[in-house]
Amino acid sequence: AKQAGRGVYRFFRDELNAVNQSRLKIEADLRRALENNEIHVWFQPKVDPLSERIVGAEALARWVTANNEIISPDKFIPLAEEIGLILPLGRHVLRQACEQAVGWPQREEGELSVSVNLSIKQFKDPNLVASVSEILDQTGLPPARLELEITESAAMMDAQKAREIVEQLRNLGIQIAIDDFGTGYSSLSHLRHFPVQTLKIDRSFIRHLTTDERSASIVASMFHLANALEIKVVVEGVETREQLDKLGPIGDALIQGYLFSAPQAAHDFSRVLHNMDAP
Ligand code: C2E
Ligand code: CA
Ligand code: CA
Ligand code: CA
Repeated sequence: AKQAGRGVYRFFRDELNAVNQSRLKIEADLRRALENNEIHVWFQPKVDPLSERIVGAEALARWVTANNEIISPDKFIPLAEEIGLILPLGRHVLRQACEQAVGWPQREEGELSVSVNLSIKQFKDPNLVASVSEILDQTGLPPARLELEITESAAMMDAQKAREIVEQLRNLGIQIAIDDFGTGYSSLSHLRHFPVQTLKIDRSFIRHLTTDERSASIVASMFHLANALEIKVVVEGVETREQLDKLGPIGDALIQGYLFSAPQAAHDFSRVLHNMDAP
């Protein structure tokens, strides 16, 4: 029994080493990926459903490896947060997004906006405001065209502190959106004191929109709240015409979802924009 015990111990020790080693390798790979410009920024359009015109886009990170494998942000963003790489990675994404947006075609009905996700660690970084300001200066993107998305849970962590940061960002002239709205149990009265311009309704509410009346009621109440506070609504994850039709009578919103487009590589998105305005 003693020997079996040792065997088991050795098995676990080897197993743990294997896990640690692959983990260390992935960490090193991610650091190298950032240095080698393998972290790309893709764009998913936000569409005005009445005109079907693109009015802006969300920047979404992709890790494109040397052999063209595309790794999803759900895999590497949490890792970047854990290993202290999220601040440089976040700056890289923000800079890329702003550089791209500067090159998008100008249009009469208003300039296209670009939305960039902020992780909670970036949001709490004391250098956030300075670093956003520096990137705006360096890229020349007009601040009004930039929107930063913070998740509902980041916004609600420490109400007073969060409000201060949002106010400082607002003073730069940029827009703020609350992301994944409806998933974070925020108190609605809290939102009233929060100077945000946009609510993004989480995809989980849209999935059952046409089959579950309660989802539809919740979505309607979120629209109602946003209207009362004069906040714009973006609905995420609209995949079908039926979902869009169901949203129509509920209220005005911008649509971000596969129905119009999945996220696209920067050059593909830019080509779509240029073709859109071609005579
Ligand atoms: P998110 O901010 O909620 O972004 C929306 C996600 O929903 C994107 O996934 C997008 O591709 C997906 N999506 C949009 N429309 C549809 C649809 O109609 N159907 C379905 N099934 N999915 C749709 P993605 O690009 O995989 O990003 C996942 C998450 O990773 C993002 O969720 C965001 O939380 C995080 N993320 C992505 N890029 C960054 C980044 O640069 N920084 C940070 N901090 N987080 C990022
Ligand atoms: Ca987002
Ligand atoms: Ca979201
Ligand atoms: Ca989400």
